Amino acid sequence: MTRPTFPMHVGVAEARQSLAALLPDPGTEPVPLAGARGRTLAADLAARVSHPSATESALDGIAAREADTIGASSDTPTRLRVMGESRAGLPFAGTVGPGECVRIYTGAPLPPGADAICPVEQLAEDGPDHVLLRRPALSADVRPEGGDFRAGEVVLRAGTLLTPPRVALAAALGHAEVPVRRRLRVALLSTGDEVREPGEALLPGQVYDSNRYGLTALLEECGCEVLNLGHAPDSPDALAGSLAAAGGADLLLTSGGVSMGRYDFMRDLLLGRGEVAFWKIRMRPGGPALLGRWEGLPVFGLPGNPVSSLVVFGVIVRPVLTGQPLRTLRLRAGTAFGGLPDKTAFWRGVVSGGEVRDYGQQGSGVLRSLGEADVLVVIPEGPGVRVGEEVEVVWV
Ligand code: AMP
Ligand code: MG
Repeated sequence: MTRPTFPMHVGVAEARQSLAALLPDPGTEPVPLAGARGRTLAADLAARVSHPSATESALDGIAAREADTIGASSDTPTRLRVMGESRAGLPFAGTVGPGECVRIYTGAPLPPGADAICPVEQLAEDGPDHVLLRRPALSADVRPEGGDFRAGEVVLRAGTLLTPPRVALAAALGHAEVPVRRRLRVALLSTGDEVREPGEALLPGQVYDSNRYGLTALLEECGCEVLNLGHAPDSPDALAGSLAAAGGADLLLTSGGVSMGRYDFMRDLLLGRGEVAFWKIRMRPGGPALLGRWEGLPVFGLPGNPVSSLVVFGVIVRPVLTGQPLRTLRLRAGTAFGGLPDKTAFWRGVVSGGEVRDYGQQGSGVLRSLGEADVLVVIPEGPGVRVGEEVEVVWV
């Protein structure tokens, strides 16, 4: 009998592609805007109105004709007659003629005839029927109609992640409801005889289940529906029972039990009743990750080490679940970062003063490094990076 074979030591990009290929198309659904944060837009959103909806003032002050005020200075203030006022939501009814102005407030429509604003702070005198300007009124303080966006313009594209500012933007465009990608249902299981619930008494050698809490939070951030399967001990039967409980999910995420140890059963379970799509990714931390299918259910096996599981989720799983590329930035290296000959390294880094420095402790078990670092520093396969060179950093 030949041993089953599967790809091993895949690259980071290939790992993402393999996972994407196993996941179902989630489809789309409409959601009220108030519940849209963190979801991915499924169609282009066009503006239903222009913003501003009328040409308006950016300041509290007076609206006048720029040409009338060109000579205004502290020594030779310009005198204008006050004809009335324009308030936000309550425009001035008339027209501003030569030598005239109206009081105006932020967001109030600019009256016909006026083309410039002088802020209230620049009035040398502010009388009941006249004002004295100590500097010219400026057209730069007029917000033109449609200056932000015009009615009919596509402002948010399909595939965009709805961050809080984009939720605000969708509201400004006039959408009470938005089409989004349906939530994927992700089941989550921790494995390991030594793994305990936070709060329980801990015997020497046991560890609290940090992975399931971190991964739940990450999945929620990705807009996924989380099916919490708790924890399974290191026994093939117990694991198979937990895998069966994930039926109906779009994906099962496990942590632990995917390395080379005698009690790492996940790979053999998949080989027995499914398939292995790959085992091991050329990255550190996170090397031993496993992808496959168990009775048709896609299974991503994250390593148990707490840093590895969260980094593999951030670098491989999250971009696939959200459809969003990693957010990267190039920074100057404030310390050297070592490279690995055959793996992409994701070292924890601390950002300050425009440069990124090595956090120091880079072990896969040092969860504190992820809690205290700002970014992951991406070092491609090779010799590493010297002080002063540019490096790519990612937020995960
Ligand atoms: P494993 O991948 O199962 O060999 O586990 C590798 C390391 O990660 C071991 O030190 C485990 O105790 C630890 N570990 C496994 N699962 C978890 C978990 N859910 N939370 C925190 N640490 C874990
Ligand atoms: Mg284990």
